[in-house]
Amino acid sequence: MAVAPGALVRVPLGRREVLGVAWAARSADEDPDAAIELKPVAGVLDALPPLGDGWRDLVAFAARYYQRSLGEIALAALPPQLRDLSAVQLARRLKRQAPAAGGGAAAPPEVALTAEQAEALARFEVEPGPFLLYGSTGSGKTEVYLRSVATLLAREPAAQALVMVPEINLTPQLEARFKARFGADAVVSLHSGMTNPQRLASWLAAHGGAARIVLGTRMAVFASMPALRLIVVDEEHDPSYKQQEGARYSARDLAVWRGRREGAKVILGSATPSLESWHRSRPAEGEDTGGSYRRLAMPSRVGAGALPAVRLVDMNLQPPKTVLSGALLDAIGQRIARGEQSMVFLNRRGYAPVLACGDCGWKSECPHCSAFRVFHKIDRTLRCHHCGFTERVPRACPACGNPDIAPVGRGTERLEEHLGELFAPVRRPDGSAVRIARIDADSTRKQGALESQLAAVHAGEVDVLVGTQMIAKGHDFRRITLVSAINPDGALFSSDFRAPERLFGLLMQSAGRAGRDAAYLTAQQSSAEMWIQTHHPQHPLFSALRRHDYAAFAQGELAERVAAGMPPFAFQALLRADARTQEAAQAFLNAASNAADALPGADRVTRYPAVPLTIQRVANVERAQMLIESGSRAALQKLLAGWQPLLHELRRQPEGKGVIRWLVDVDPQAI
Ligand code: ADP
Ligand code: ZN
Ligand code: ZN
Repeated sequence: MAVAPGALVRVPLGRREVLGVAWAARSADEDPDAAIELKPVAGVLDALPPLGDGWRDLVAFAARYYQRSLGEIALAALPPQLRDLSAVQLARRLKRQAPAAGGGAAAPPEVALTAEQAEALARFEVEPGPFLLYGSTGSGKTEVYLRSVATLLAREPAAQALVMVPEINLTPQLEARFKARFGADAVVSLHSGMTNPQRLASWLAAHGGAARIVLGTRMAVFASMPALRLIVVDEEHDPSYKQQEGARYSARDLAVWRGRREGAKVILGSATPSLESWHRSRPAEGEDTGGSYRRLAMPSRVGAGALPAVRLVDMNLQPPKTVLSGALLDAIGQRIARGEQSMVFLNRRGYAPVLACGDCGWKSECPHCSAFRVFHKIDRTLRCHHCGFTERVPRACPACGNPDIAPVGRGTERLEEHLGELFAPVRRPDGSAVRIARIDADSTRKQGALESQLAAVHAGEVDVLVGTQMIAKGHDFRRITLVSAINPDGALFSSDFRAPERLFGLLMQSAGRAGRDAAYLTAQQSSAEMWIQTHHPQHPLFSALRRHDYAAFAQGELAERVAAGMPPFAFQALLRADARTQEAAQAFLNAASNAADALPGADRVTRYPAVPLTIQRVANVERAQMLIESGSRAALQKLLAGWQPLLHELRRQPEGKGVIRWLVDVDPQAI
């Protein structure tokens, strides 16, 4: 039976039958295994067109680059339900699937483009890209995405576009905007919050071409789209584009690769681009011929709205243990009096990060991790955010019996309670009580909870919104005029060299939630503000933030990165080992380092000593890592490719004793 490359097949494996992809034709001259006798294919899912060359190349590249097996990536890239369907069931499913929608019959756009949007789109049409759309929060980047998609769909009758966002919770709003513009049938979503049947339906629509537009999170980068012509990566700097388990791929980087391979234009959008993308989009200057990306700048907010004024509160001048400064409370109070909304941002969920005994010094350590368990008051539990270990809060100190154990520090739950107490005597303009709400991973656990909580904010049913970074990103809130970060200092002196970049991005994003509706501000005779409470008001990060000057911030960071030889001027990978003991983990890494000495490329790659991870033990597993770095991506890749078989071998040797697993993280996001 002749099977086309890319065809989905069912093949016997042991006594089971599993899904497979016919990868390529075998040739006896090139493939030493070609002589091996193989079992015949059990069935071809021929109701489906084969997976294209571009898709297979993408999967093969991702496997190679991120040091994983081809099968693992391919399988993860296909919808889970496809694994369980026979050819007959699949054919039946396809018949039920909505007929080709065509789509692209764009409803006429209601808004006139701003000059900056028009300029960005004009350049997008004539230049090859990849593009970095560097647009302030509220500059109308989404409108640029919508228009570039509209132009494409109108010009090419079958063309498809892929639009990615970093988080599931940003998909509903975006989906609504795309469906309003292009019709519900032309748009499908792909993200991990969907049921398996939903994912299969979306995948089939994309693969068959009926879906002209696929919206999704990082997994969508692997969607099979035979007529892909445009890829948008919104908030391209967002760390969620990097998968943090299994195959640790960067969906943003794969999007750029895929765009080049398939001749699709790529737009990376952000108000605070990753330093990698910023550097790659630098204009030519002097000797430097510039980066390979084209930068499209949209500095102004739509409707001539101003970016919020940034106010720094010097916490050194506040009474000790102040949580919310008087000035900030006054400012929030004024917003409440005018019927406007405020947002208070704290990147730590739960009630308090630690519960402690004042008598004997006991703390709520997790017995399985080198971390404290977080106190959640709502269900009176101590929960480990690393291994999940959960217990009821003890009535008294487990060590000394003291009944007075107390929370130390605060998370969003406690902040919400605290704000409730502070604003209890205050009345809204209509005389009713102040409404405080919280959005974080805990408040949104139930299906649909996040949507209803966001809807309440949009409907103006909330006066003060407390939350984690979940509320900082992307949302187009219309009535929030004040945003505050009450304790952002932690990231200023982190050992992770990307921490300041992440903090700056997060604060700019948070600021971007305030004053998005210029007409509303005018009508209210109000203005937007971003408040930051800090012990380091002189820090250059904050002075750049005050001026909304990402470029200055980036320049400073890049100067440090050049001097220290760090990304984007170097390329990194981590080798990590998990073991029963820290010694075993480090011994494995050191042996691995020695084994790499003889590999090609080794002389151009620096291997640092093995060190424990910041959270050294999780779920009774000791973790260690080794950083490897090179000025040449090719040299690093070459070393990794040669290393892989040695690592597998080493695991079976005495050096691998006690090692539970090892993994390679290429272009790691956190170190
Ligand atoms: P960004 O993604 O850059 O933060 P959005 O695309 O969400 O910004 O746009 C901010 C707001 O401005 C949205 O409410 C959007 O509908 C509106 N908007 C965008 N472009 C225009 C335009 N050309 N004219 C009027 N309003 C616009
Ligand atoms: Zn005690
Ligand atoms: Zn734990």
